This record gives sequence, structure tokens and C-alpha cells, in this order.
Amino acid sequence: MITIDGSLGEGGGQVLRTALSLALCTGQPFVIERIRAGRPKPGLARQHLTCVEAATAVGGARVEGAELGSQRLAFKPGAVRYGDYKFAIGTAGSTTLVLQTVLPALLLADGPSTLTLSGGTHNPLAPPFEFLQLAFAPALRAMGASLDLQLVRHGFAPAGGGCITATVGPSKLQPIHLHERMPTGLPRARAVLAGLSPSIGERELTLVRRRLDLHAEQLRVEPVASHGPGNMLLIEFPGSPCSEVVGVPGERNVSAEQVAERACAAASRFLAANVPIGEHLADQLLLPLALAGGGSFRTVEPSLHTKTNAQVIERFLPVRFDFTAEGTASLVRVVPRQPL
Ligand code: ATP
Repeated sequence: MITIDGSLGEGGGQVLRTALSLALCTGQPFVIERIRAGRPKPGLARQHLTCVEAATAVGGARVEGAELGSQRLAFKPGAVRYGDYKFAIGTAGSTTLVLQTVLPALLLADGPSTLTLSGGTHNPLAPPFEFLQLAFAPALRAMGASLDLQLVRHGFAPAGGGCITATVGPSKLQPIHLHERMPTGLPRARAVLAGLSPSIGERELTLVRRRLDLHAEQLRVEPVASHGPGNMLLIEFPGSPCSEVVGVPGERNVSAEQVAERACAAASRFLAANVPIGEHLADQLLLPLALAGGGSFRTVEPSLHTKTNAQVIERFLPVRFDFTAEGTASLVRVVPRQPL
């Protein structure tokens, strides 16, 4: 039985999600204690509970401790079943994080699946839908994954009510090596707005235009329908095989200019490192690469999420991660561990 300390490193929801994903993929049961101990309100929140419920359904699992606020969970997977699944978070919790939890197991399954997930699609501190669509999914497809994503309806906190769908085909994941940045077009920025004045988006884009030296054709205000108001500023750097997408949510009491400054600072860090993989994609690629049994990429300095995720993955799979600093960049390698 694998025992995971949920307070490890970042001590957030990803420790749990990675353990769920890999329990499904490897058939190994686990117990996690001190779930999200690094967060102000530890234990399972709605999003995490939906991840547990989704993993339980997909993996025919037996589970103890699947309750809101629970800080301990025991998870014993059965056989993974492909098929058509619908999961509703019930709050604005992130649908993209629920998707990432069950996706690896469904990719490795013997038949096709569809997923319909409702909740938040553009959340703070989670991948916005466009990040999955333009960065994460293309990277996985480059590894051999059969994966298509659709945004049905935008969902912002606190109202939620968004919906995404995924079509997943049986896939054999292959290692990839992404060392050089290969731009395929000019950067683009868009300000997504629901129920808010377009002037907010225009102010965000005015600042992005000045800071990143963009032209008017590279900017777009995108008004969308949603159950409640919301805003997210997205800056895309098109690339092959995957783009980088910087997403920064608008927040109450934070000016449009401050939102744009945050996005430009993140974009500048990515550009300065001259790497193909940004901070967030780095932590999210570790698991699929580990399942593929190898691969490597150059990225920005690894985040605590990345270092923590590497440690959790090493508990389930016979790989180790090697991080080599190269100035402001870093080379990450997935190395198969020899059986003793
Ligand atoms: P909590 O922090 O409340 O435990 P959580 O369940 O959202 O919540 P984390 O452990 O913080 O979990 O994981 C968040 C994940 O979202 C990480 O994979 C991180 O890289 C990703 N992420 C956060 N912000 C972005 C962003 N702007 N773009 C893409 N991915 C993001």
C-alpha cells in the first residue's frame, strides 16, 4: 500500500489528483493523509471531491473518506472502464482539473470515452480551458494521445455553470523531447469577458499591447455568455507542437491594468527563458511523460508544483526526474529506474 503525505511540498490538490490518476493507471491502492495541509482550508473541497468521485466511477474503486473537508482518503482501484461519463462539480470548481485526473486512465483504456464536466472553466489557480486546448492537449497529441476538447459554456467563480467536453481514444503514449522553442505565429492576447463592460478588456489589452509590443490585429476582446460575471486575460504564444498560454483572471478590487501587468510579467519570464514549455505545462507534463516511460523538455525554473508532482509520481512509477539548471531555464528529464 502506498502512503502519501498530502502536506508534501506544495501541499495542495495536485498531490491528491496525481495519486488518483496513477492509482487508476497502475492499479495500486493508496492512502493519503493530511490532504491539502498546505492550504488555508485543508481537506477535500468540492473540486477535489468530484475528482475522487470521477476516479471512483472510472476505476470501479473502493474508497473511504470521500467527504467534504476530509483530510484522509483510502483509494483502492478496480478495473478502468471506458465509456460516457458526466461529472458535475456543483460549484465553480475547476472542470479542467477534474478532466486531468481521469484523462490518463481513459487514454490507456481499451475503448473510447466521452466526458462532460460542469463547473468552472476559467478559474484562478487552475488551467483555463484555452490552456488545455492550445498547450496541454497538443503536447499530449504529440505523444500519441487521441484527445479532443470542446468548451460548451464558460464558467467563472463564483457562479460556475460552465461546461467542457472531452473525447478520448485509446492511445499509446510515446516519449517526446521538447528542447527548443518553435514559434509558429505572432503572440495573441484576448480578454474574455462575461457580463462586464468591454472597457475592462480594452484597458487590459492596451497595457499588453504596450508592454509586449503587439499590433491591434493581435488583440481581441471576447464577450461570452455565462451564468455569472467573469474575466480572464489570455496571452497565447503559438508554437509547435504546443503553444504557451498565460492566463490571468480578473479579480474584484484588482484593476484591469494590474491584471495585465501580472500577465505580462508571466509572459516576459517565459520569453526570457526562451524555452518551449512554460511553468504550468511543466508540472502537468510530468505524469504523461512518466507513463510513456521517458522524455525530456526545457522549461523555466521548476515551480514547487513541479518538484512536488515529481515526488508523488516517483512513488507510483519506476521513473525518476532529473532537473538541471541552465541559467534561467531548466532541463527536465524523465529517466526509467532500473529494477534492483
Ligand atoms: P488547491 O491549491 O486549493 O489545493 P488545486 O486543487 O487547484 O487547489 P494545486 O495543487 O494548486 O491544486 O494545482 C493547480 C494546478 O493548476 C497545477 O497543475 C498548476 O500548474 C495549474 N495552474 C494554475 N494556474 C494555471 C494557469 N494560469 N495556467 C495553467 N495551469 C495553471
